[in-house]
Amino acid sequence: MVTRGSKRIGRHESVVDMSPDEFRQAAYQHADWIAEYLENVRNYPVAAAVAPGELVAKLPATAPERGEPIEKIFADFQSTILPALTLWNHPRFFAYSSVSSSPPSMLADFLGAAMNVNAMLWKSAPAATELEEVTLGWLRQWLALDETFFGIIYDTASVGVMQAIGAAREWIDPRIREHGMSPGLILYISEHTHSSAEKAALTLGFGRENVRKIPVDDCFRMHADLLEQAIQDDIGRGKRPCCIVASVGSTSTSAIEPIPEIANIADRYKIWLHVDAAYGGPAAVVPEMRHILNGAERAHSLILNPHKWLYVSIDCSVLYTRFPEIFRRASALGAEYLRTAEDDRVVNYMDYGVQLGRRFRALKLWYVFRYYGRDGVVRLLREALRLAQLLKTLVESDADFELAAPVPLSLVCFRHRAGDEFNRRLLEEINASGKAFLSHTVLNGKFVLRFAIGNFQTQEADILDTWTLIQETSSKLKA
Ligand code: PLP
Repeated sequence: MVTRGSKRIGRHESVVDMSPDEFRQAAYQHADWIAEYLENVRNYPVAAAVAPGELVAKLPATAPERGEPIEKIFADFQSTILPALTLWNHPRFFAYSSVSSSPPSMLADFLGAAMNVNAMLWKSAPAATELEEVTLGWLRQWLALDETFFGIIYDTASVGVMQAIGAAREWIDPRIREHGMSPGLILYISEHTHSSAEKAALTLGFGRENVRKIPVDDCFRMHADLLEQAIQDDIGRGKRPCCIVASVGSTSTSAIEPIPEIANIADRYKIWLHVDAAYGGPAAVVPEMRHILNGAERAHSLILNPHKWLYVSIDCSVLYTRFPEIFRRASALGAEYLRTAEDDRVVNYMDYGVQLGRRFRALKLWYVFRYYGRDGVVRLLREALRLAQLLKTLVESDADFELAAPVPLSLVCFRHRAGDEFNRRLLEEINASGKAFLSHTVLNGKFVLRFAIGNFQTQEADILDTWTLIQETSSKLKA
């Protein structure tokens, strides 16, 4: 039992703290547990079998008055918190976007928390700032984008798209910075663009009526000709087209929109083009998949999320732009208490967005990129792409099921032919089994199951077993 109180830490007296020895023991225990978890992860149910409020009811309503031993806190994590978690870092988590916190990323986050630096300024965190420049340079090379692309890490693609639309607004109408939002600026997205773009438009004061949702084709890709038509209509009505958000890997189906054609339109009408490759972008590191970013070199900004499909823990989203000065103009203020002698020679990342305090996220990129190397990352991505094609053929070979969308990346959308209600129940049963976790979307008015592949531990057996589970569950439901 650990007693709390005054501890000696080196030559310094601490009022209440964990001694280095106690920390070392606790860290070993946590590391052992994590290693065991990773090794036996398939024994854990993927989805939490809890009702809303169940965890709250188990926990004290007030914080402890006196400190508790770390062993007890850790034991409670295992007995109480873990069962109420849905395990995103599980090889059979196939919902939303399948993501990974790979071991090198975990280690970097551990170190990052110990250093606890704030990467707001070069001066406040020289290595964090420069490592961000270096790792984003490496990633830029892997993506075969040229040096004109400046990179910045945001927490999420949702914040990144807001900054990008903010930059588009600054580019179209620099007076807004001084005088506030002017009416009639238009944002173009598709019916299938992730909701974060429309949310950004709400936050920035565009107003929902100034967001155009362009219809999609049979493959759920924005219709470039309808986009152009909408722009012409808006210009005819005295509106000001501001920004187009086009997706490489849309959320519902992973559709890859026709970026070269959309870039032509953006050029023709002088509209900012933002490419949302939050989920799909990492696949472009695979040489035979680089084509998915064709045309993106003409985008004003581009986002991809290492925390989705590049084996980096949440959160870490990368934005590249050919117009960093516009981002600065949209956000920088230069408060006196943040000025430093180096300002004219360094990058101060706080100037490129609303966030001042910034975590040391580049450390986990550095760990992951160095540990796996480009070759390892390509092999992981390629395997996820292969498994998606395998699942696609399984769906196609079962007459009870149908594919609901093309499979250009690692997401398979499919449904049982028995109708919406049946598919809803099928999804519920599979998720309740704890053996796999899927999500859904609605395509052409029909309820569709989404099976996203991408966790670093997912193997062929996970796909085959889960497909068997889906088939057996649907047979049971039919009986
Ligand atoms: N864009 C796409 C295509 C997505 O699929 C998602 C999330 O699923 C987002 C943006 C938002 O990502 P984030 O959670 O990083 O905000």
